[in-house]
Amino acid sequence: MSGEQQVGKAVADQWAWNAAGNPIPQSADVVIIGGGIIGCSAAYFLARQGVSVALFEKGRVAGEQSGRNWGWVRQQGRSPVELPLMIRSLRLWQELPKDLGEDIGFKQGGSLYLAENPGQLAELGEWLAIAREHDLDTRLLSDRGLTEVLKSDGNKWAGALYTASDARAEPSRAAAAIARGARRAGAHIVSSCAVRGIERAAGRVQAVVTEHGVVAARTAVCAGGAWTRLFCGSLGITVPQLTVLGTVARTAPTTQLLDGEAWSPRIAIRRRADGGYTVAHGGSFAHALTPATFRFAAKFFPALRQGHESLRLTFGREFFKALATPSRWDLDAQSPFERDRVLDPAPEQRVLGQMREALKRCFPEIAAAPFVETWGGMIEASPDVLPIISGADGLEGFFIATGFSGHGFGIGPGAGKLVADMVSGRADPVELSAFRLGRFFDGSPIRPGPAI
Ligand SMILES: Cc1cc2nc3c(=O)[nH]c(=O)nc-3n(C[C@H](O)[C@H](O)[C@H](O)COP(=O)(O)OP(=O)(O)OC[C@H]3O[C@@H](n4cnc5c(N)ncnc54)[C@H](O)[C@@H]3O)c2cc1C
Repeated sequence: MSGEQQVGKAVADQWAWNAAGNPIPQSADVVIIGGGIIGCSAAYFLARQGVSVALFEKGRVAGEQSGRNWGWVRQQGRSPVELPLMIRSLRLWQELPKDLGEDIGFKQGGSLYLAENPGQLAELGEWLAIAREHDLDTRLLSDRGLTEVLKSDGNKWAGALYTASDARAEPSRAAAAIARGARRAGAHIVSSCAVRGIERAAGRVQAVVTEHGVVAARTAVCAGGAWTRLFCGSLGITVPQLTVLGTVARTAPTTQLLDGEAWSPRIAIRRRADGGYTVAHGGSFAHALTPATFRFAAKFFPALRQGHESLRLTFGREFFKALATPSRWDLDAQSPFERDRVLDPAPEQRVLGQMREALKRCFPEIAAAPFVETWGGMIEASPDVLPIISGADGLEGFFIATGFSGHGFGIGPGAGKLVADMVSGRADPVELSAFRLGRFFDGSPIRPGPAI
């Protein structure tokens, strides 16, 4: 990471909530593994329901995906399977600044998917039927309509798909603020403390083993982001999950072109609370081949085929690193989670170069603004690019919340609430069945939702 850091800074400033000054509890009703936006939101809503909850984060709260993402809070373009959850999530986002008493950079500034030609515009327009079904304010803008929302003369766009109620928030603030809210509501939040595994008896969770001691608990939720496959695998639970690397930059404060965010296959920009932009390539992600790629190839094939234009496969160090990582370990010795506290992959220089070129071409008004920080983020994905919010066969009391597939920030508060309701037995079983882990193993067809 280069320049003055904001990514993960919220957490650098964050409370020293490590085990040294914050002894771990002996027991909790629910233990949450992972302090990303999903784990923090689940802890927040559970604590507000009066449940005793302890959350353990191996590194820093929001140190991985939840602090490195683009900051889009969008309904637009989502699969109808997760759209109702996203709509509920947006309502929670609206309440969060007041409930938390913190500025998390939340603003409903709209989202745009830009079309370079009429064919692309027609393709984008296909999503309008889903929007109508869910009463969204999504519209197809002509090039003239677009000028009201996007003040840029750089590119002659054919038009755009636009949802005015879509929003943005600051990843450097949001999950950490939710964690603080959870703590105020009574949750125990411990960073720099990896969970090594689960103790079980008679097929159910009895305790959670951390690097700093054992917590008696009959319920555990794994919200471990990109680590979930490894953690669950050590318990004998298969979670099909692969990762891709995204490259991101933020600019210095510069001219305001829009109030929200805009995407095209070449470039994606999001207005930031500090007056700059979070910038990324609109369609360039790298997947480092690992043994898991081959293991899950058949399940991921439909998603790989759908996203092949934006995906590059690489082979190298990651393959051998994964090969050398144990799949099981003793719970009284160091686990892989303690060796890699924060996944902090390097951004791809060539992608940064492409982003600079695309800015000049598409948004020349802001192209001179320097990149003051660049970073990489490892995005985890499920085979149908939809969340897994589920119990696990054979281990009662164990739940999984992962697979957010590059769009879990926006849906995070909603998903966290759903996790809290699932654990408390209040969730709608019909909704949960769409997110069950078993869909990848029971012969159900794997139909990927939209990937951006
Ligand atoms: C570059 C990029 C751009 C994105 N853009 C967007 C966007 O604009 N909008 C959007 O909605 N989504 C976006 N996403 C996706 C979104 O960031 C993720 O889906 C979401 O943050 C996932 O949250 P999480 O809590 O599941 O995982 P994470 O944020 O990855 O958190 C998981 C945490 O679990 C911890 N952990 C793992 N194992 C253990 C263990 N054994 N013990 C203790 N702790 C453990 C990890 O250290 C980590 O902090 C983007 C992601 C990236 C990387």
